[in-house]
Amino acid sequence: MGGGRLETVSVDVEPPGPGELQIAVAYCGLCGTDLHIVHGNMDARVRTPLVFGHETSGTVAAVGAGVEGWKVGDPLTVMPLIWDGTCAACLAGHQHICQNLVFVGIDSPGGLQQRWNVPASIAVPLPAGLDLRTAALVEPAAVAVHDVRRSELQVGDRAVVLGGGPIGVLIAAVAREAGAHVMVAEVDASRRSRIAELGFEVIDPSSADMVAEVERWTGGVGADVVFEVSGAAAAVRATTALAKVRGTIVVVAIHSAPREIDLQRVFWRELRLLGARVYQRSDFERAVELLGRGVIPADALISGVVPIEETASAVADLSAGRAMKILVDVAGEGRA
Ligand SMILES: [Zn+2]
Repeated sequence: MGGGRLETVSVDVEPPGPGELQIAVAYCGLCGTDLHIVHGNMDARVRTPLVFGHETSGTVAAVGAGVEGWKVGDPLTVMPLIWDGTCAACLAGHQHICQNLVFVGIDSPGGLQQRWNVPASIAVPLPAGLDLRTAALVEPAAVAVHDVRRSELQVGDRAVVLGGGPIGVLIAAVAREAGAHVMVAEVDASRRSRIAELGFEVIDPSSADMVAEVERWTGGVGADVVFEVSGAAAAVRATTALAKVRGTIVVVAIHSAPREIDLQRVFWRELRLLGARVYQRSDFERAVELLGRGVIPADALISGVVPIEETASAVADLSAGRAMKILVDVAGEGRA
């Protein structure tokens, strides 16, 4: 897919195999990883043609042999991780970062299809009251839940989120729910105004003196937690200047190259530098709960819903930074 060509095709539907559920996919969100796949940046990993998409919601369309606890019509989402259960990471209890992890929608067929067979083990039930459009945000919200949990954020903490895209806003919302005060740094003006409307402190790191502003905001102490979500080299350099003594830096973004970081500052302030990747089942279930309670500003995050035939133009809009989160209406039910 190096040429970035997207096609919508009709195929015969296979029944679900033993241990599988067949999902009638309702919505599928598009994310930065999907853009990388379409643009060919992941050609070394991705086998094409690929049905991508991993931010999904839907209902059970058919139940495979041996699957218990599910019936046709049940609403669900999918935690798109399949681990081997035998590697050192799995045996240590870190199945979500299995050394042979299969990420569904990247390494195997994903959710941009109207009928999707998945192992029942990765299906996550949704409460009846949660609408399926909102539920398409469970996967990115679970990322944010995991990031905040890894940070060990405490009530009353001051957290700085570098990068105000969908994941940054989700982290801000989850951190606020956990009792933190949150400041988001974002270069795009329209995103900044949207974030300010949600009640977060917001700063433009390209014009303001971010270090001085965070010093002022924290009474000279520095931030308890800094989430690096932007993927930008300058933001990485800023993290160590923003964190307080014994503060925590969480690396959320996928950086395309090694970055420079001030290790003298890490040493001097006894900073903690953590990676946070995907999510565990408990994070996914917590994300379902937070969306169900309306803690996540779903409407502010979803900037558009398109039919499946318009996936390519949605990818172009996202690539150009013209959108926040675009959902593909896979079932076609929401069409005007
Ligand atoms: Zn493993």
